[in-house]
Amino acid sequence: MRALIIEPSPTYQRILSRMLESYDFDITFVDTATAGFRAMSAHHFQFICVAMYLADLTGIEFCQQVRADDQAKHLPIFIVTSESNPELLSSALAAGATDIIRKDDLPRLEEALHSLIPLGPFRYNISGKALYLEDSLTVAKATDAKLKRLGLSMDHAFSIKQALELLQHNKYDLIMTDIVLQDNETGIDFIQQLRSEPRFLQTPILAVTSLESINRRILALQSGANDYISKPVLDEELFARINNLISANRLVDQLTRERQRLLELATKDHLTGLYNRHFMGEVAKRRFAEARKQELPLSLLVIDIDHFKQVNDQHGHHIGDKVLKRIAEALRQQFAEHDCIARFGGEEFVILLHQQDLAMATDKAYQLCQLLYQLQPEGITTSVSIGVTSLSSAHEEFFDEVFARADKALYQAKQNGRNQVVTV
Ligand code: GH3
Ligand code: MG
Ligand code: MG
Ligand code: MG
Repeated sequence: MRALIIEPSPTYQRILSRMLESYDFDITFVDTATAGFRAMSAHHFQFICVAMYLADLTGIEFCQQVRADDQAKHLPIFIVTSESNPELLSSALAAGATDIIRKDDLPRLEEALHSLIPLGPFRYNISGKALYLEDSLTVAKATDAKLKRLGLSMDHAFSIKQALELLQHNKYDLIMTDIVLQDNETGIDFIQQLRSEPRFLQTPILAVTSLESINRRILALQSGANDYISKPVLDEELFARINNLISANRLVDQLTRERQRLLELATKDHLTGLYNRHFMGEVAKRRFAEARKQELPLSLLVIDIDHFKQVNDQHGHHIGDKVLKRIAEALRQQFAEHDCIARFGGEEFVILLHQQDLAMATDKAYQLCQLLYQLQPEGITTSVSIGVTSLSSAHEEFFDEVFARADKALYQAKQNGRNQVVTV
């Protein structure tokens, strides 16, 4: 990168040179506008710093002349001055200066340069949406532009209330918050509110703090911010922190999804999505202990499709599968969330009826028997036989025992001619 510095004072030439040293710029120093134009016709520069007062032109006139040239229209020009006369400064901006840098505030030039420097070897591959709670519109707008370069879109909120409203209706990959807000609100309050809600426990939060306020930074982290960045914000630092936060969160998401998938594989039946026999055993252990301890009723239905082999034989295994799925769906619709439904084997289902006694369970079984007979999955008339039993309150029983009793009742229902309920 090449930079042109038009500065008559050797002292400031030295200061600027030292400041820009770490950036690896190829710097051309000249002390007049004429020499500046000559250098510009020989080289292509990425930016220009020009003093306000030169021997041949003012910095403002220099700017006007550069802007008149089509090719240099967008070239960043920083006017460096010790002047603080607002009129002069506004005419510099009107002439097309990119920014005015006061000589007593040279770090500002450094900040401005950060937005010019390309991201170097780092290419961030992120996308998504950020929410920024910030009471300064100027800061919010500047940040929005920066995030766009990174591939993130941004919503802006002025107050905690506004931010919470946006959070109601949008999903964000990142939340950024300023610390000192209007009306005595603070970003710390906002972070604490977010972290008290389970759905925002995992959302990455970046606190934007002032450099001097170490206490607030610590407080922000203690309240649940994942990271902080100090104002004035350097683009590269902002990008790197955001990238780390978002990628780490995506990794957690991915692991959570994988864990969920493994859990489903281990506990559920592939074909119907109902629980499997193994998982039913685990649930039953807990429910049996609970029912005994609290002296609450618990019942069990064992359901077997009648002559299902014929369905396969007459319509094919594929249709048989569809019938099983349809019946499973009907079971899911008929029973409550806490009634555990499992596919126990091929065409056999077991339902654990939460806090229901034998009479209630028998009623349910009759209704179910009738409903499934009318269901006609895939246009095929199917019926089921059901065995019903309850956990004995007289003595301690385990799942296998209770299941065996219901299974015996089921066998009896088959013997009696199928499409019926037997209770024991
Ligand atoms: P019963 O009234 O005595 O219960 O007669 P049934 O034909 O239903 O009983 P049987 O035990 O003789 O046959 C069960 C059939 O269920 C045999 C098997 O092919 C079928 N089956 C088991 N699992 C599946 C499955 O996942 N898909 C399909 N399509 N059929 C299955
Ligand atoms: Mg603020
Ligand atoms: Mg059967
Ligand atoms: Mg069977």
